[in-house]
Amino acid sequence: MLKTGTLHRGSKLVIASHNEGKVWELGELFAPYGIECVSAGSLGLPEPEETGDTFEANALLKARAAAAGSSLMALADDSGIEVEALGGAPGIQSARWGGEERDFGKAMQRVHDELEATGGAYTRANFICALALAAPNGEDATFTGRVFGSIHWPPRGTRGFGYDPIFVPDGHTETFGEMDPALKNALSHRLRAFEQMIEATYANDA
Ligand code: IMP
Repeated sequence: MLKTGTLHRGSKLVIASHNEGKVWELGELFAPYGIECVSAGSLGLPEPEETGDTFEANALLKARAAAAGSSLMALADDSGIEVEALGGAPGIQSARWGGEERDFGKAMQRVHDELEATGGAYTRANFICALALAAPNGEDATFTGRVFGSIHWPPRGTRGFGYDPIFVPDGHTETFGEMDPALKNALSHRLRAFEQMIEATYANDA
């Protein structure tokens, strides 16, 4: 378990992700806390295979590998979209629905087609993000956040990444793909997990 003060102003963290969208969003979230972020890609760290069967297990696997490979604190994000009428799919398979080439046009089309096959009327969905923070000494912790909303077709907007163009968060009319990125970052599953992590591990004066 990691305690308050693990993260503090001046901490340096490896972001254990090769997804530019995630690295950018996490960098924006960390900026006010005076924590320096470097990406696993820029340190030449390999991407471990995601063999876990939960978001938390996969986030831990990535964070532990990056902490061991860099001797720095590491943060990993495992996230995805869960569509209720599809029994929570694509879930931990969210990246894989984009195929080898990570084509999210194809992945969004598959969500739409599978929803249509259920009748298409029930469109509730949520994004989920598990963040894992791992220290080089082997201590770690995970934090999970969700944002609820619904699937809309056709895709709208070119901002964000992944499934953003088909997801409208509750209380809004724009998709995450249309929304100002600052607004997405203020509502997102990633922010909710991030806030829990800050609450549990950050101390201003440590
Ligand atoms: P992984 O966590 O790298 O296994 O992949 C997560 C996948 O879920 C991403 O490639 C995206 O397709 C999707 N995803 C996760 N977070 C978001 C988000 O904030 N917006 C849109 N898609 C997301």
